[in-house]
Amino acid sequence: MERAGTGDGFGNGAPGVRGLPGCLKCGPVELQPVFDGEITNFYCDLCGSCWHFESGYVVPVHPETCPGCQLEEVCRERVHA
Ligand SMILES: [Zn+2]
Ligand SMILES: [Zn+2]
Repeated sequence: MERAGTGDGFGNGAPGVRGLPGCLKCGPVELQPVFDGEITNFYCDLCGSCWHFESGYVVPVHPETCPGCQLEEVCRERVHA
């Protein structure tokens, strides 16, 4: 039996990660945070791109060179799927 009515965000207006502009390619979509122990990148489920947000700048990160993604193998799996 699942919890209900506690406002976890599903179906209740959760357009994306709070405070982040989303994917530069796809717009304000939800990004998957990928943390490698030092930095956090954000992976776009739609186009398979990784982004790193830093001090107002958005830097594209390739999955093959993204330390977080190599660690978690998130990008490779998502892209392959
Ligand atoms: Zn995207
Ligand atoms: Zn990545």
